Amino acid sequence: MRFDLHMYEGRTSFEEGRIFGHENMGEVVEVGQGVERIKVGDRVCMPFNVGCGFCENCEKGLTGFCLTANPGSAGAAYGFAEMGPWDGGQAELLRVPFADFNCLVLPEDAAEKEEDYVMLSDIFPTGWHATELAGLRPGESVAIYGAGGRDWDGRALSHHQRCLPGLVIDTHSDRLALLSIRCHTG
Ligand SMILES: [Zn+2]
Repeated sequence: MRFDLHMYEGRTSFEEGRIFGHENMGEVVEVGQGVERIKVGDRVCMPFNVGCGFCENCEKGLTGFCLTANPGSAGAAYGFAEMGPWDGGQAELLRVPFADFNCLVLPEDAAEKEEDYVMLSDIFPTGWHATELAGLRPGESVAIYGAGGRDWDGRALSHHQRCLPGLVIDTHSDRLALLSIRCHTG
């Protein structure tokens, strides 16, 4: 959300009048003619990067660097500065381009667990990606700089990967206190 704050405060090139919101989920109310997999009534979550699904980078799984969804650049997102023309989800409705590729269809408990599933749009996979890039292995410990939400996820995931408790570095004592409670009880 730090990047959203930059945009709210006018410190990016985000154009006035556009709609913020890059972490999106919801129920499908309408599909376009080219959509085959996604149906009306599906509950879906959208990874925040918009990908076309057919360019060279998307085919390699590098959807954060899609070559077609942000003309003149690589990488697109919903409601984000310099990340293409797509509006965000802080609205009644959201248009999802390349819907068959960009929608993650959620299971039947999606309505009751939407506060969990929305984490799949950005923050949880970003934490996972960090642990993957770091090459964490069971028995290793980690140092995490910043005790924000994303860092919680990184810590939870490193715990899931059976890493040893590590360090969390932050200047916010309230966040650090929460983490120490979570560590002892979890
Ligand atoms: Zn692409």
